[in-house]
Amino acid sequence: MVDFPASPFRVPYDGSFRVAKAPTRVEGDDEDDDKDALRAAVARISELQERLYAHNRVSLLCIFQAMDAAGKDSTIRAVLSGVNPAGCQVHAFKSPSTEELDHDFLWRTTCRLPERGRIGVFNRSYYEEVLVVRVHPELLAAQSLPGELEPERLWAERYESIRDHERHLARNGVVILKFWLNVSLEEQTRRLLRRIDDPKRYFKFEPRDVTEQAHWADYMASYELALRQTSTPWAPWYAIPADDKPKMRRLVAEHIAETMESLHLPYPELPRRSRDEVDELRRTLKARLKD
Ligand code: ATP
Ligand code: MG
Repeated sequence: MVDFPASPFRVPYDGSFRVAKAPTRVEGDDEDDDKDALRAAVARISELQERLYAHNRVSLLCIFQAMDAAGKDSTIRAVLSGVNPAGCQVHAFKSPSTEELDHDFLWRTTCRLPERGRIGVFNRSYYEEVLVVRVHPELLAAQSLPGELEPERLWAERYESIRDHERHLARNGVVILKFWLNVSLEEQTRRLLRRIDDPKRYFKFEPRDVTEQAHWADYMASYELALRQTSTPWAPWYAIPADDKPKMRRLVAEHIAETMESLHLPYPELPRRSRDEVDELRRTLKARLKD
């Protein structure tokens, strides 16, 4: 099993997590220090990604969940800024299509899992099925689920399916890290206002984000339940304070770098028997340089 970083932001595995106790802001270094630390972590991730790619046995899956305007996109961009695009796959999951709704709720994300040796990022994920769908259970009507709808049983079964799914992936070499970017209602309100007022940000403004804000308490209750039920030793959640963006990006990058380091991935060695062949090929190449 992977030795995931023990951090103050890791959601405990015993179901005791409380949103009300999870900070949305932490004191610490100033902005310049955070930016320097982010750069250092990005450099580590870049080097470790090469190892992951060369090793080609395991993959890393980073799942991001958050309320709107918490900074998922910019965090993903910042954290992966040093990574070779060929070794990395990012997918944003929006409202499901009719084809996606015609399958079980883990189908569409399964098709997008990272290949061995790659870093995969899910910008939203199957967790929407116990978050937005739990806040708006009327969405279930479009899912053509079999049998009677018994909401409490349905949610309990979905948490169980997620735990089992992630356990299966972990056994098969997918290292799963999950980040909840924990922004406060007040900071989200400020950011939504900025999207309205700043012409360069206006394209990000969605009227729906304002109407969804009215369900804040329900969302927080759903996050609390989901994180309690699905933070596990094989796929932990990290509740990252998101009111201060430079600090949030730094924390996410450092958790990813630390996790990758803990894998101790060696560069693959050439099999012994091919040493002679390689020596021969080296001689051939050197001879060509002389020609
Ligand atoms: P941004 O707003 O930063 O561009 P976003 O991730 O919020 O990024 P949107 O297109 O605004 O992207 O929103 C996607 C919407 O799709 C969210 O409101 C999310 O809750 C919803 N969604 C995602 N998965 C599901 C799902 N399985 N069922 C219902 N709604 C979903
Ligand atoms: Mg949105």
